[in-house]
This record gives sequence, structure tokens and C-alpha cells, in this order.
Amino acid sequence: MKLRILLIEDNALNVELATDLLVVRGFQVAHAVTAEEGLRLAAQTLPDLILMDLSLPGMDGLVATKALKANPATSRIPVIALTAHAMRGDQEIAFEAGCDGYLAKPIDVRSFALKVFEFIAAANPSRNEQQT
Ligand code: MN
Repeated sequence: MKLRILLIEDNALNVELATDLLVVRGFQVAHAVTAEEGLRLAAQTLPDLILMDLSLPGMDGLVATKALKANPATSRIPVIALTAHAMRGDQEIAFEAGCDGYLAKPIDVRSFALKVFEFIAAANPSRNEQQT
């Protein structure tokens, strides 16, 4: 079964790059342009991991992450912040909002998919046992 990623990102180039890098590694990727649409898709599809751009039109990624973590249906889904603001202060703000990890843009094409997989593995230490 493919691991399912929900990418909430409004920049078309980042969407294309992230999707390509993940799909070629066997992930299934769904995409939302706005936080509102992302919240709806997250609750509907319960993905294995959410990649959350913090800078979105309308509701921003921090508010959306808080909403995901406040909802019992989605609170266990790991949320990885995706932002160009790769400064220490922004990382702390992301973690305070409930993000489980952080990937800085620009996307590192060599390590991106592996890091996504590692975040999923870290969030599901007994995943393999549960599946057998
Ligand atoms: Mn953005």
C-alpha cells in the first residue's frame, strides 16, 4: 500500500517539484492550494503525512496546523512545515503551532523524499508490526 501525502502549498512550482519527487519514490500525493481545502481533504482522506506550506492565501499554515492538531480525527497525522523562512525563530513558531517537523525551501531534490519517509517512520514506530 502506498504512503499517502497531502501537500498543502500554493506555489505551483513547489507543488510540481514536491509531487514529482514523491511520486517517483512511490508515494501517493494529494494536493490542496488553500488551508481550508487542505483541512477538508485531511479529515476526508486521513493521509499518512501532511506537508504544510506556512505561507498560504487566506488561512495560513500555522492556523491550519493548530486546527488539525485540535481535531481528534486528524491530530495524529504528522504535519511537516514547508517554508522559505528557514530561521530558528520560524522553526520554533512552527513547532509551537503543533508541527512535527520542518523542511526548508528551496526543496532539496536529493533528500526530500527520504526525509518525508523518515518523518512518517518516526511518527509510526510500530507501523510495520501493525501491518503484518
Ligand atoms: Mn506559499
